[in-house]
Amino acid sequence: MKDSTNGGCACTPNQSIKCTVSNCAHHCKDQNYCGLNTITVGTHEANPTQKECTDCQSFQMK
Ligand code: SF4
Repeated sequence: MKDSTNGGCACTPNQSIKCTVSNCAHHCKDQNYCGLNTITVGTHEANPTQKECTDCQSFQMK
């Protein structure tokens, strides 16, 4: 079956973006890297004070 997303194969790990969110469609399966060239990091808080306050806004469900 053809896979045009990063869901199964064809993921080129971006060594500048480490990521452990294996549930994300952009995550490179066997390696803890993101497959995107760039990502956007944001926050859901009005006044972020710790890392838990930040989010990868490029996340996509598999
Ligand atoms: S898009 Fe964000 S959450 Fe998804 S693999 Fe890349 S860095 Fe991780």
